[in-house]
Amino acid sequence: MKKFISCLLALTLVFTMFTICASAQTKAECNGDCDTCPSIVVPGIGQSNVWALDENGDYLLDDDGNKIMCFPAVIDVGSIVSKALVPALVTLFTQKDAGLSDALCDVVRDVFAVNMCDENGKNTGNFEVEKYLYSVAECSEYEKKQIYNNIPLQDYAELAGEDHLYYFAYNSFGNNYDIVTELYNYIQMVKAETGHDKVNIVPISMGGSIANGLFEYYPQVMNDLDKVVYIVPALNGSTIVGDLYTKNLAFFDTDFLYNGFLEALMDEEEARMIEVIARILPDEVLTTALRKAADCIVEEVASNITMLWGLCPKEYYPEASAALLASKPEIKRQTDMFYQAQLNSDKNIQTLVDMGVEVFNIVDYDVAMYLVGNSWNNDNADGVIHLSSTAMGVHSAIVGETLGDDYVQANTSVNCSDPSHNHISPDNVVDASTGLLPDHTFYFDAQGHEQTARNDAIISLATVLLATDDVKDVYSTPDYPQFNAKRDPRALVNTYIPEAKAVDASALSAEDAAELAAAIEEAEAFVNSTACYEGQQKEVEDRLINILVKIGVREPKVEEEPSTLFTEVSLWLYDNYGTDGIFEVPGLIAKVIGMLIKGLLFK
Ligand SMILES: [Zn+2]
Ligand SMILES: [Zn+2]
Repeated sequence: MKKFISCLLALTLVFTMFTICASAQTKAECNGDCDTCPSIVVPGIGQSNVWALDENGDYLLDDDGNKIMCFPAVIDVGSIVSKALVPALVTLFTQKDAGLSDALCDVVRDVFAVNMCDENGKNTGNFEVEKYLYSVAECSEYEKKQIYNNIPLQDYAELAGEDHLYYFAYNSFGNNYDIVTELYNYIQMVKAETGHDKVNIVPISMGGSIANGLFEYYPQVMNDLDKVVYIVPALNGSTIVGDLYTKNLAFFDTDFLYNGFLEALMDEEEARMIEVIARILPDEVLTTALRKAADCIVEEVASNITMLWGLCPKEYYPEASAALLASKPEIKRQTDMFYQAQLNSDKNIQTLVDMGVEVFNIVDYDVAMYLVGNSWNNDNADGVIHLSSTAMGVHSAIVGETLGDDYVQANTSVNCSDPSHNHISPDNVVDASTGLLPDHTFYFDAQGHEQTARNDAIISLATVLLATDDVKDVYSTPDYPQFNAKRDPRALVNTYIPEAKAVDASALSAEDAAELAAAIEEAEAFVNSTACYEGQQKEVEDRLINILVKIGVREPKVEEEPSTLFTEVSLWLYDNYGTDGIFEVPGLIAKVIGMLIKGLLFK
């Protein structure tokens, strides 16, 4: 028996050695033997190329011959006009809903057709996700461009090697469970390809919700991770999506629809123009049509998309799922499962921390949420996601307010290593001691969600976290403090500094030459640093621009007086006639046309 066992052991040994030899040549140059684990980016919503296909599986092309993206919808103006024009005209002439709202629903079904899911939560449209099932080193130039455009990690690739960088592309409107499973398998693939037994993951925005599912459904994956670097992660969805699923939409209030809603989303004069035009319909007809279209989006499109359910905050889910999924048991089974993952998000992240996985979080704050849903101002935000979602339950004041002079740091997290830490932001807006990871969460003041990747300090921080062990927490170096701010120095780097340096200073007065040199020095110091305060970039830019203007290198910026005609007309209508359509009040159409003509001719 002993002999048998030793034979077996010997055999096992030989076999193991054989496998080691056989696998010794991995795709990564280091063969898994280096200090930097490969990193996998799990991007945000719409940050993967998903192409629309025709029924034969060929790419759909636009008039210029370019492939058509499925995100967020495939908009074919011709087909929209053909569906909506006649009902819109009849509705206009009769001032009654003569099929307009039905036509709008048809348009909704049409533009979202490719993103529709069935009652099992599976996609029914024809599309192709552009996936990169290999490291960036093996990507084509075109593919590298797509990836670096979404997240410019070239410096990381330089340090760690492009064979240590992977990009997990997925369909933002796909099936949540399937995509989580794909990510789990992708991680196993990266381990096998590189020879590393651990990887880093970088869940960005919607990627944070995928990570929630990953840790809940595949807890064994925690053994595969060295670091998790979250960037603006939607760990508890976004209140915008919660408001969408509970139909708590701001424009259902007609007063707001005609005065305020559009202004928050676009240029005021454009918004006011749409408001004036919208008044060619009675307000009841218009709001009925909008409500029906919204119902159609929520009930027929959004309620079947489990990836979108992944962005519904846990506080909204019970009400939303009861209302929308009562007759869709399979989708509800899947979203219930995800709801658990969301409820367990903090607990699972704590398990990672306890296991020794280094978890970092980079978030933005103090940017008002897009005003789509009525919850927009319930919490601080980065424009798209509320702060307590990205910052793991953190307590903060809403945008424009502070915690108050008497506020005392609450220290509710078990993960602060030192009770003497000051985790309150310099602007007294955020109490970082109340988030799950006070010592490992980096906050960027006034930084908007969508421009996060253009903040070079954020990209530099992510690079240092992933490729080195130099930054262990928010106290490691003043270069990467807990509280930092918005920036995007591209104009300084590409335009203003080169322009200023090209000036022949010998031709200037001593005073101007000194100011120019000082402004350049300040600008370069800003560009080369990674820590700043809110508004600093503007100060630096303005100083440089001012001296360039003074010495005649730059034209002074002439602020063109913008037209305010539609703003005046829209506000006049609102003040005098509330939300009425212009045909509802006798003689009003003539007055409005008169005002517009006068305004256009005699401005
Ligand atoms: Zn390596
Ligand atoms: Zn602390």
